[in-house]
Parts: sequence; C-alpha cells; structure tokens
Amino acid sequence: MLAHCKFCDFQIIADREFKTEEEAAEYATMHCDCGDAVQYRADKEREELREKNVRRIEGAIESVREFCQKRGVFFVENTTEILRSGAMCVLDEFIDAINIKISQIKIVIQKNPKGVLIFKKNYSETNQEEVV
Ligand SMILES: [Zn+2]
Repeated sequence: MLAHCKFCDFQIIADREFKTEEEAAEYATMHCDCGDAVQYRADKEREELREKNVRRIEGAIESVREFCQKRGVFFVENTTEILRSGAMCVLDEFIDAINIKISQIKIVIQKNPKGVLIFKKNYSETNQEEVV
C-alpha cells in the first residue's frame, strides 16, 4: 500500500494496510528522511519522554506521601499541588531544584547528571532543649 509523507509528499510502499489516510500519512512520515519528518520525529520523541516523566512524577509524589505518612506527617491537597508544579518546573528546567520542608521531613526535587528527575527525601530527628 502507498503512503505519503505529511511534509514532502514522498511515497513509501508499506507492507501493511491502514484504516485511515491519517494513519498511512503518519506511517510514511515516521519512515521519511526529509528534514521536516526528522524534526517531527524528534519533537514526538521529546513529547513522549516528557509524558513518561510526567507519569513518573505522580508515582514519586505517592512515594513521598507514603514516606511522610509513615512518620506521622500528613499531606494536604495543596502539598501535592506544590510538589507537582515544582517537579514540572524542574522537569522543564525553569528551576534547578526545589527544597520543601514539612515538619521534620525535607524533600529536594532536582535532576541528576543524567537528566532524570529525582525526589530526595530526608527525615531528621533532633532534640533541642532550651537551657534557662
Ligand atoms: Zn518527508
């Protein structure tokens, strides 16, 4: 079956059938070497990676919530919002790192040298007595 690139109209012989014209064009574009098709694939990959990271954020927030709950610190809905929007800013590189302190728990959101988003959790217990 013949399929055409969305950008340069280059024809590709596909070894499969397509349900729609759009599906055929998508297939051809994913296999074309013209500049626009290469850019389209790069943009699509970047978008997919971002979506994957966004899904990871929800899991990481859940893990932070459990970490806090085990130590008797409970989240309010706003805490989840702050963590989520903070993580998005770090992911999109508007902010390098975010530090949040909830009671005796410190949370740091940043990217590691490989560019992977990480949530560091630290619980510290100190006793302080005022000497009078
Ligand atoms: Zn093309």
